[in-house]
Amino acid sequence: MTDFYNMDALLSDEEKLIRATVRDFVEKEARPLLASCWEEGRFPHELLPSMGRLGLFGPTLEGYGLPGIGNLAYGLMVQELERGDSGLRSFASVQGGLVMYPIHRYGSEEQKLHWLPLLAAGEKIGCFGLTEADHGSDPGGMATRARRDGDDWILHGSKMWITNGTLADVTLIWAQGEEGVLGFLLEKGRPGLQARAMEGKMSLRASDTAEISLDEVRVPDSARLPGAKGLGAPLSCLNQARYSIAWGTLGAALACFEEAVAYAGERVQFGRPIAGFQLTQSKLAEMLSRITQHQWMLWRLAQLKDAGEVTPAQISLGKRNGCEIALDIAREARQILGANGISLEYQTGRHMCNLEAVITYEGTHEIHSLILGKEITGLSAFQ
Ligand SMILES: Cc1cc2nc3c(=O)[nH]c(=O)nc-3n(C[C@H](O)[C@H](O)[C@H](O)COP(=O)(O)OP(=O)(O)OC[C@H]3O[C@@H](n4cnc5c(N)ncnc54)[C@H](O)[C@@H]3O)c2cc1C
Repeated sequence: MTDFYNMDALLSDEEKLIRATVRDFVEKEARPLLASCWEEGRFPHELLPSMGRLGLFGPTLEGYGLPGIGNLAYGLMVQELERGDSGLRSFASVQGGLVMYPIHRYGSEEQKLHWLPLLAAGEKIGCFGLTEADHGSDPGGMATRARRDGDDWILHGSKMWITNGTLADVTLIWAQGEEGVLGFLLEKGRPGLQARAMEGKMSLRASDTAEISLDEVRVPDSARLPGAKGLGAPLSCLNQARYSIAWGTLGAALACFEEAVAYAGERVQFGRPIAGFQLTQSKLAEMLSRITQHQWMLWRLAQLKDAGEVTPAQISLGKRNGCEIALDIAREARQILGANGISLEYQTGRHMCNLEAVITYEGTHEIHSLILGKEITGLSAFQ
């Protein structure tokens, strides 16, 4: 039912196998842990060896032992991860798109040889520090500074809302230098570097989110990403992660839709299943319509990305649309589940809460509207 126009007929055997393998992992290994991890507010790090074995981190990258799979297969992978929980997909998006990708694209040979195999295997964890307390949608205003001191650099400032921040073995910090924004790879334990878990989240609770402080952290020049100069470097990484969110949100939408259909078929009120009521059917029809539209948007997005023709605005549209449809579907599904919609015994309420963060990070819904508005009109409304 959730493949209404039979996209499966167009998938290769390899793509179907990748999707089935990740779905199986999520169902058997992750699902039993997710509700309790969400309630406890912890990332299920015990899943990392399996996630590394399944090649979930940076699989579209090539060389350094990385498989270089296509973007459709990767999309299906992250769809299945987020069908489990947005926290699982966030981990993979950060590790692959925001840490491995910049190392792969902007790093020195030494940095690539050291970090890429360890991060791909899930043996080491990375995080991406761009956002600050006073600079979210406008990272160009960042206050974190990098100043030269002989052969070293001194980093000073703080970062906020950093996924994987307390778990990270390597923290990628973006800081303003005299020559523009620069990226630095900081190993855990470096004096002056501290990560503190952010408590009290009502969303993405099965994900680690941290505040990072940098108190005159001294690093050698070899810790700098030599190819990264200017704000374009971190923004290029966001494109990778946004692509995975465009697909991942489809997974969350599918989970909520399927749960709502099953629930509506079983739940009897006024002497009949609530699925038989027109108002319920109208909700389900709307959900299927939006899921199907988004699936085909992603199909084409994957082709454009494989061809190297995709534009940042096209990825923005995918991220914006995915978050919007998934959040709307999760809210409607939660409504169909009645009181059970707010229980962790069901998935829908958890997905709905998660998606409130997903629609905000990696560019808020409004920021993606502005990116598209600029594309349509040629006029930038950012300032
Ligand atoms: C769970 C979670 C994980 C995260 N992980 C990471 C991470 O790993 N690394 C990282 O660097 N960051 C991370 N972030 C930060 C995230 O990217 C920012 O929260 C996001 O960019 C928005 O910034 P802000 O929260 O400061 O909101 P603000 O930028 O203050 O925006 C507040 C509101 O104003 C609106 N707004 C802002 N500017 C405009 C404008 N020009 N026109 C119209 N409306 C506007 C926004 O759309 C929003 O609705 C994470 C956030 C969350 C919640």
